[in-house]
Amino acid sequence: MKRFLMIFLILMWASALYAGEWDADQLDARRAIPNDITPPERLEPLNMLEALDTDEGVIRRVNVRDGERVVALTFDTCELATITTGCDMAIINFLRLNKIPATFFMGGKWMRTHARRVKQIMSEDELFEIGNHNWSHGNCALLSEDALTKQILWTQAQYELLREDARLKDIAPVPTLFRLPYGRNNERALKVIASLGLRVIQWDVAAEVGDNTNVKHAQRSAKKVAAMTRPGSILLFHANSVPKGTANLLRYVVEELTSRGYSFVKVSELLKLGEPETVRSGYFTTPGDNLQLDKEFGFDGTGRKSK
Ligand SMILES: [Zn+2]
Repeated sequence: MKRFLMIFLILMWASALYAGEWDADQLDARRAIPNDITPPERLEPLNMLEALDTDEGVIRRVNVRDGERVVALTFDTCELATITTGCDMAIINFLRLNKIPATFFMGGKWMRTHARRVKQIMSEDELFEIGNHNWSHGNCALLSEDALTKQILWTQAQYELLREDARLKDIAPVPTLFRLPYGRNNERALKVIASLGLRVIQWDVAAEVGDNTNVKHAQRSAKKVAAMTRPGSILLFHANSVPKGTANLLRYVVEELTSRGYSFVKVSELLKLGEPETVRSGYFTTPGDNLQLDKEFGFDGTGRKSK
């Protein structure tokens, strides 16, 4: 009997330890980890994707065959060259505990800042997939071809390093989906991204508006988000603790959409369910609504003010 009790206690301890690993701690906060401006340890991924045959443009949503009520939730983890951002464990744990699939578009530098979290997310690959969101949030409309190539390949390489470190052989060798920082691009950028083998995934519903730490605001926002959502929609959120109250908003959006009969899939699965709807340049909700951001984040969109 004593032995069973012992085994039981060890199991309890082990499961508590495991659960604890996912709890937020001080290192998940914005600016908690010092900024590191060095390039990644590996500058090019060992796994280079083949160039895509066609440059299909910017995918905003998918026209789902037979109108099935299915959508993709996406979470960007943006990090400029000049600062470190956070990792919102309330979001990640909500998704895990409710078994809601999601796609993260991760900055490569952010991946290095939050390496332990990325490896955890990688280990839940049934639920989560990871896309590329440039190394330090470089603006694809402003970067030279060479600088854009570095932003993309450094991120692919950083993913690869963490995948190797986590010994996760069964997950994708490198990301195949890309998200434009600020939703900004030009024709040259689309060619470069396609030549590196990645598809560009934006959104048709930018979910976060205002401060959602206020529950009433979050509930109202969630109703608006649900009203904008259609079968095949791609929803934009952030998981870097920059927009306020996203975890709150997410909870109510999931409630609203579930009550309207929607279910959730990763972007790569959504793409298999129909034809992508594409445009030639990214934006938030109306074309051109992101142009003013070019002036706000330094000469190349990474936050650096001089070359
Ligand atoms: Zn971003």
